[in-house]
Amino acid sequence: MPGGSLDHLREQLAELERAGTALRPRVLEGQQRARARFDGRDVINLASNNYLGLAAHPRLKEAASKAAAELGAGSGAVRTIAGTMTLHRELERRFATFKGAEDALMFQSGFTANSGTVAAILTREDVIVSDELNHASIIDGARLSRAEIKVFPHRDVDAADRLLEESRADGRHQLLITDGVFSMDGDIAPLPGLVEVAERHEAIMMIDDAHASGVLGKNGKGTVDHFGLTGRVDIQVGTLSKAIGVMGGFIAGPRHLIQWLVNRGRPFLFSTSAPPAVTAACIAALDVMEEEPERFDRLWERTRFFKDGLHRMGFDTGTSETPITPVMTREEVKAVELSSLLWEEGVFCPAIVFPTVGRDRARVRTIVTADHTEEDLSEALEAFERVGKELALI
Ligand SMILES: *Cc1c(COP(=O)(O)O)cnc(C)c1O
Repeated sequence: MPGGSLDHLREQLAELERAGTALRPRVLEGQQRARARFDGRDVINLASNNYLGLAAHPRLKEAASKAAAELGAGSGAVRTIAGTMTLHRELERRFATFKGAEDALMFQSGFTANSGTVAAILTREDVIVSDELNHASIIDGARLSRAEIKVFPHRDVDAADRLLEESRADGRHQLLITDGVFSMDGDIAPLPGLVEVAERHEAIMMIDDAHASGVLGKNGKGTVDHFGLTGRVDIQVGTLSKAIGVMGGFIAGPRHLIQWLVNRGRPFLFSTSAPPAVTAACIAALDVMEEEPERFDRLWERTRFFKDGLHRMGFDTGTSETPITPVMTREEVKAVELSSLLWEEGVFCPAIVFPTVGRDRARVRTIVTADHTEEDLSEALEAFERVGKELALI
């Protein structure tokens, strides 16, 4: 049999199976909505990042169909050769305004926006100071840059300060980087403190607002707006794949940064640009966010309702302050059990275990969206209560 040299993968997979942590993605049959059908089962969907319910919004679908009909299915080239379309530039201008930045650049995903940007702005002479819970795409970008990587304990401003102090040297650039909202815990970066520290050390300040764009700040402008720090963060990353409901990533910042990324951002240079349907749907999403601000209010109202319910029952929801609410079990087997019993009850929220979180930090993660009704959430809470008692979590 060919492929004998891959036998080690077979052994490692068997190990994951034994540990019960092998991933088997559920299959969505239909649209991404608050109630959806996965693997042949109708469930209350607490698993998506579709915060504002835009993924299946009629305006976005219409914009996508129209753009595909008029402009084609694909862009046909990378951005720097022949693949920059009017729609890309229009979306970039809109996103720059949305983020209060001079200019913006679209990438194929939030992942490539992060990894491509961090890798492009630092060299091996430089240093990156990074929160221990920052996203994998930041970690990959840091490695690609070959800069020295220094990790500070989660949300610890004083530790970040000390790391910047000790690695400060003439001609050495320092990048202080944090997620805005942390994807597994739902807590918010201590941005005012970090910005102050970055300014004091003349470090570049970068924030990854993947889970904060469309969620925090006025009309979803993000963490910078939430804390009133407009103009004091050099680089803002956004994704078009979560609250915006489509796909793609964004860098917003000063014009010379954007021009540099056009020249040196490897995913921008070497990977084909987004198709017209995707780009047009993103523009429509920004329109909807401006015209239907009640979506933000609804998102936060429903979030409070669901969190209050979990707290009343006595669940441990960690340090969450946003629509991402983990329900902590700590033990991995318990998280897997909680998720699968909830699934049996018609509630979909995934178990999150090592290596996504620390070994004793297992949980199921829930995300409420603006499209969940109070009935959806009440029904989900009743299931949590039954299963939580069964597993002696409450
Ligand atoms: C999801 C996520 C990304 C990646 O965004 P995609 O558009 O899905 O590639 C980057 N950073 C953080 C913090 C994320 O949660």
